[in-house]
This record gives sequence, structure tokens and C-alpha cells, in this order.
Amino acid sequence: MNTSKLLKLCVGLLTTLFILLIIYSICSYFIKINNAKNVFDEIENDEASLSEYIVYGTHLNLKGSINLSNENIKNITLCLNTKGTDNAKEVKLNYNKTASGIEFYTSDLINEGIDLEDLKIDMYYIFVKVEYLDGTNKLYSIKNNTEYDDIEYYSITKNNKNNKMNIKFSVQNIEDRKINYMFIDVSGVKKLPKDVYDIVIDPGHGGGDTGAEYGGYREADLALKCAKQVKKELEDLGFKVKITRDGTEGDEYNTKTVYNEDGRVNVTGASRAKYVFSIHLNSIDKPNSQSGVEIYAPTRMNLSFAKSLAGNIVKYANTSYSDLDVIYKVDDGVYVRAFTEEGIKKSTNEAIKKGYEPYHITENTPYLYMLRETGGIATGAYVDGRRGGYGKNLYCNSNIGLEAYLIEMGYINNNTDLDNMLNNQEGYVKGIVTAIKEKILGDDD
Ligand SMILES: [Zn+2]
Repeated sequence: MNTSKLLKLCVGLLTTLFILLIIYSICSYFIKINNAKNVFDEIENDEASLSEYIVYGTHLNLKGSINLSNENIKNITLCLNTKGTDNAKEVKLNYNKTASGIEFYTSDLINEGIDLEDLKIDMYYIFVKVEYLDGTNKLYSIKNNTEYDDIEYYSITKNNKNNKMNIKFSVQNIEDRKINYMFIDVSGVKKLPKDVYDIVIDPGHGGGDTGAEYGGYREADLALKCAKQVKKELEDLGFKVKITRDGTEGDEYNTKTVYNEDGRVNVTGASRAKYVFSIHLNSIDKPNSQSGVEIYAPTRMNLSFAKSLAGNIVKYANTSYSDLDVIYKVDDGVYVRAFTEEGIKKSTNEAIKKGYEPYHITENTPYLYMLRETGGIATGAYVDGRRGGYGKNLYCNSNIGLEAYLIEMGYINNNTDLDNMLNNQEGYVKGIVTAIKEKILGDDD
């Protein structure tokens, strides 16, 4: 065989390959279109109406209703449908029968619902699937009737990787029908955008606010020292961490400036992180009358992570659960403090006295502002600038919030606790970091 014949053969082969490739591409394109259409093939004419749509931490929470008169319902689930009905991921929905139909919701607990970290790269069409007693299933698409629009979510950094999720609403025209639907488009990204973080660490107090003081030590300083170490160790695990203050803040930084643009509330909101951990040292009127670890969490939460934070700190710092016995203690070292009836009255009276419209507070509203104001509407954030002298939480009406925990490591005015926090800081840091690592990365490595 001479060179020119060989060349001709090669060109022929390449051309054939090229043509085959084009045919394959065209075929797969049409198969894709077909599959996309299939997703809508079995959708009912009635649609579900979405009334609540919130991302809290890593979870998407939905609430809505369908106008169904049928009484023979066995089960309702949320279908995350990728390519036709056979390949769906399903999430159980809670539901109630009401006068106007069926009301459904993902969970009573704000840190449950659809785990966004669980979604692999794909396109998910979201439908409500109703299973009837006679064995039939019906799929209903979802129309957004909330005031909120699309959400852009970035997954937490794991193995140097992140996914970007666009949670969106759209309309599909099929024959003469208009179908409103919800979908999540998950794609891979090289890294987080500059202004997006995984975790926020918030050292309590700072600037002109020293926090509690005892034996020549100040809460603001000890909290900052510990927070910086937690940040460093989380970064060593690959997380992108934002700290709300770094010790360079001046005296003008105080309790009134936390709602300024560079105050901890808005710095946290702007971070688009999934978790925020505030680090504090406790104190009590009578020195040495109280000791131990307290973890504070917002109301309506699954508290397993709060329990793990408390347990890991007790274990690694060789300390104890707090002996503070109050009505809002829910477990060893775990406290969920909300406004009381008396507290709401006090807040209302203060507003009237100071001449501003009282805030909307219920007995479900978290008492500690860093737990409440960083969760947006999920946690009933309310600081909107109406109170003179205080700034505005720019994210108080947001349907995207951070899962928040406040850690009281121990009592600064308990000699044993103080001694331990001064000489065994690495134990507290290890406890906090271990709990976070297990929660986010799993304990399998
Ligand atoms: Zn404090």
C-alpha cells in the first residue's frame, strides 16, 4: 500500500466516523427533547399552589395546597423527576384535609424538608404525587403563588467541589395546555463565587462591647481567639469560612451596630453560607454558681446537630453539660429559647414608649437575635429599621436563611470553666470542629 492510498483510507475512515458522530448527536438531541416532554405527559389538569417556599440552611421547605375533593388518598409525596416518571426521587409530604382541598408541607421542622446537598448534577422537575387507595397515582405540577422568585443555591464545598442549583418556576406549553411547574437545575461549578461562603463563624460581642468580664479576662477576647482557631481548622478541612469580626473593629462596634451594614447580622446574611456558629462565654450574677456548655438553637428545629455540638464539646474539652435548669432546656446542653408571653408584652410596651410600631413577635420567635435574624422568614426575623438607633437587617424578609447555633462554651465567672477555656482551648475547638465535620462530611473519613 502506498502513502497516498493510506491517506485516502484514513480520510475515508475519519469522514465515516464524523458522519456517525453527527447522526448520534442528532439522535440523542431528539431523545433528550422527547424525555423532557415525557416528564409532563402524565400531569393532571389541576395544579398545586405553592404558598411557602424557603431555603433554611441546606434544606428546601415547601408548603402548598391542591384543590382535590377526592377522599380516597393514601399518600402524598414530592417527586423530583429527572427523565420520566420511572426515575424519580421522592420526598414524603405531610398533609391535612381542609375545606378547600388538601394542604401539604415538607416538614414542621425548618432544617428538614428536601436536602439540597443530596441532589446530584441533573435537572429535577418537581411534582406532587398523590397515591390513591385504589392503587392509582396522579401527578400535579406546582405553581408559585408566593411573593418569592427563583433561588440560586451553592452546595457546601466538599472535596474542593461545589454544585450550583437554580430553583426556578416556569411554564410549559403542551398542545393547548399551559403547565406551570417548578424545577431545580443542578450543575457543577469550579468554585464558589467570591461573595459566597460555606460557614460563618461569629465571635460574640467585640469593639466597645466587651461582653462578660471576670478575673481580668473579657468574653469578647476569649471568644475571638477560639473563633479564629475554629475558622482555621474548618479551612484546613476545605470549607470557605467567613468570620464576622476579626478584632480590628473599633470601639464604635457595639450592641447597637450589629444591624449596620458591617455588623454581624448583615455580614452573615450577605455570606450566603449554610451555617452560622456564634461563639460566646456565659456568665451568671453569682460567680461559681453555674458551669458547663449550652448550645442554643432556633425554635422548630431537628436538634440532632445541636446535641452533637454539645456532646462533642463535652467530650473533647473534658467539660460538662450546663447545670442551668430552665423551662427552655430541651436536652443535655441544648436550649431553645423563644419569647414568652411576658417578653412579648415587654417588647410591645417598649415599642409604644419609644414611639415605633411594635415588632411582630410570637411565642415561637427565637429570643437570641443571631438565631432569629440570620434565618430570614424561616425564623421570624423582624428587625427592619423601625426602631430608632438600630439599623436594619437587610435580610429580614429573605426566604433564604442560615442554620444558626449559638455556643456558650462555659461560664467565664466559674473558676473551673475559665481555667479550662484558657488552658484547653484546643479541646473546645476540636469539639466544635468535629461536630461540624461529622454533620457536613459524614464521620466516615
Ligand atoms: Zn456573650
